[in-house]
Amino acid sequence: AQGGLRKSTENHNQLNRNFPNHDSFSRKQKIAQHRKSLPIASVEKRLVDEVRKNDILIIVGETGSGKTTQLPQFLFNAGFCREGKTIGITQPRRVAAVTVAKRVAEECGVQLGQRVGYSIRFEDTTSGSTRIKYMTDGLLLREALLDPYLSRYSVIIVDEAHERTVHTDVLLGLLKDVQKARSKTFNGHLNSESKTTDGTMLDKDNGAAAISFLKQSQGGKFPPLKLVIMSASLDARGFSEYFGGAKAVHIQGRQFPVDIFYTHHAEPDYLDATLITIFQIHLEEGPGDILVFLTGQEEIESVERLIKERLQRLPEGSQKLLTVPIFSALPSEKQMRAFAPAPTGFRKVILATNIAETSITIPGIRYVIDPGFVKARSYDPLKGMESLIIVPTSKAQALQRSGRAGREGPGKCFRLYPEGEFEKLEDSTKPEIKRCNLSNVILQLKALGVDDILGFDFMEKPSRASIVKSLEQLYLLGALTDECKLSNPVGQQMARLPLDPVYSKALILASQFNCLEEMLITVALLSVESIFYTPREKFEEARTAMKCFSSPEGDHLTLINVYRASDEFLEKRTMGLNKEKSEKILRKWCKENFINSRSLRHARDIHSQIRGHVEQMGLCIASCGDDMLPFRRCLAASFFINAALKQPEGTYRALASGQVVQIHPSSVLFQAKPECIIFNELVQTNHKYIRNITRIDYLWLSELAPQSNLMVTGSFVWQWLFNLVQPLVSGCCLMAMYNDSMRSFLSRH
Ligand code: ADP
Ligand code: MG
Repeated sequence: AQGGLRKSTENHNQLNRNFPNHDSFSRKQKIAQHRKSLPIASVEKRLVDEVRKNDILIIVGETGSGKTTQLPQFLFNAGFCREGKTIGITQPRRVAAVTVAKRVAEECGVQLGQRVGYSIRFEDTTSGSTRIKYMTDGLLLREALLDPYLSRYSVIIVDEAHERTVHTDVLLGLLKDVQKARSKTFNGHLNSESKTTDGTMLDKDNGAAAISFLKQSQGGKFPPLKLVIMSASLDARGFSEYFGGAKAVHIQGRQFPVDIFYTHHAEPDYLDATLITIFQIHLEEGPGDILVFLTGQEEIESVERLIKERLQRLPEGSQKLLTVPIFSALPSEKQMRAFAPAPTGFRKVILATNIAETSITIPGIRYVIDPGFVKARSYDPLKGMESLIIVPTSKAQALQRSGRAGREGPGKCFRLYPEGEFEKLEDSTKPEIKRCNLSNVILQLKALGVDDILGFDFMEKPSRASIVKSLEQLYLLGALTDECKLSNPVGQQMARLPLDPVYSKALILASQFNCLEEMLITVALLSVESIFYTPREKFEEARTAMKCFSSPEGDHLTLINVYRASDEFLEKRTMGLNKEKSEKILRKWCKENFINSRSLRHARDIHSQIRGHVEQMGLCIASCGDDMLPFRRCLAASFFINAALKQPEGTYRALASGQVVQIHPSSVLFQAKPECIIFNELVQTNHKYIRNITRIDYLWLSELAPQSNLMVTGSFVWQWLFNLVQPLVSGCCLMAMYNDSMRSFLSRH
């Protein structure tokens, strides 16, 4: 009987190989049907015509109308990828780039990475044959460094422009210039008297438009670049004005009525209110999935756990509720689960961050729960401190969220705050460029040859104070010269690394301190979610496990210990095993040691990529072995901007900003409380917590980072004056804090 069974399976496999599986066939039909039913399908021809006619087109359409998934396919079919050109679509969020690319690959019936692919930082699935490329807006900015004309693209679609991320805003300004420059080179080639890619000529011809980086770039002719700006916000005026009166087309959406419910009173605990609402809907309302907007991974995981606990207490038969989380750090296979329909009889409850607001559309939603909060970046240019804080949504966000309930039929939205509060919300969210640290984008703009940052054609200008603060930070890091030009080699090298400028600088310094191996590990581990896995129910066990790795010198050394231990384990135990097997036993090791295996794998990936970059740059990759002193000194030299001193009451004062902060309980130095430390991260909840901390010697600061002296005097001597006259003459005060070269540096910019 066994033989027979085996045989029949073989036959079955053979059948599958020779004939398309019935399921996949009907899935294809379903997809084709779904595509035809989207609002955008009826205007395909018109959209293609408009893109042909207009070099810049703004497309505004309700979320879910098919902009992101369909337009690139329309353009591909209309021949916009001739001669090997690519259509690039930028997304503000990684999750959207990944999930949409997968969906579109499926719709096209191709393997991901062939015609359709995505590229995000540290993960590139594209190949030479990719013609529809989804990517993050930040990634396209990086590409511009290597290919200033963005020559491989025939069309660039800036999607979700209404989100106004800092990268989108910078990209818009840059694309404007690239487009002008490309049409010049093209026309120049047509009337051959022009000397093509000579940038100086472009400058003259084009007024301020052309960018000096084009001066250095290779000759050749580039066909004009088409730009499409897509937005879910109904107001296209801002974009149209910015692009000199560009044409805007509106796609008629399909929106069913959504009933909005408010609470009677303000909810003291919105997570608890969320849970109650989920179960109320589950038990009392008709079929349909629920979408819940939470602020981040921690909230999502805690609500997920609470749902599971409460479900067990429900009578049998009413337990058919399936929770599916979706957030950026989730592995992409798991992200895709949000799109799969729930098993028959089950109701799906999707716990999402605001990625589900407009970036991705999940089918089947009838109920939306909106506690009314979002996690947002916030920046204090005077203190130079960036933090993530939880703030109320804007009205526009609240409307987008409720709209998700009415995509396929009438729906309901439960806003977990009183109606009167809605009126108090801001109309729309402030663009990110007005509330973030600009060091990173300024470094990139400088690398692109845009020297006059204040004069750059931003859609909305960041404040002078925050530009000055970021220039100052870059100057302190050695990325800028006294003339405010990108320094060579440090600034140039920093711009090439796909990392926060502080981390890039740390790698460069580490090569001088002979501990680049250690710094690579550190930067990789600091770039992922926490490496330690501390489940609530096994808290003590996890803590004990962590002690095996912990170093009395601090968190950075602890991270290195974990990484080295995993390396050692892999070397010893997985020799000769194939990749799958070794990954499996590494996962087991992680579990036993309360290490988050996903974070570790991700970190190992990032490690090998950054290692590749620094090798290419020719930095000296050495290890300091077991003597961690040079490494700690290098940490001090790298992160001196985040040095802090202990206060008598056990809190710390950050030297640069004068802020009072506390060591986060997860730090290995939480108890020890050394005199002087450096830290990497400030998290603002009820307290101002610092994380990822290492003990240093105070004297190292003046020895290794003489620039830090300026900050020290700044924070103590000038602090009172600073507070006194801050709003009026903060610029002057800033200058007073710095020595002569800094003063002249600032006065010139
Ligand atoms: P827009 O960009 O206009 O908001 P999209 O192109 O993202 O619209 O989505 C169009 C449709 O495709 C939506 O109805 C959505 O439900 C569906 N869709 C998008 N991604 C997926 C996916 N991964 N799985 C199933 N359906 C999807
Ligand atoms: Mg979209």
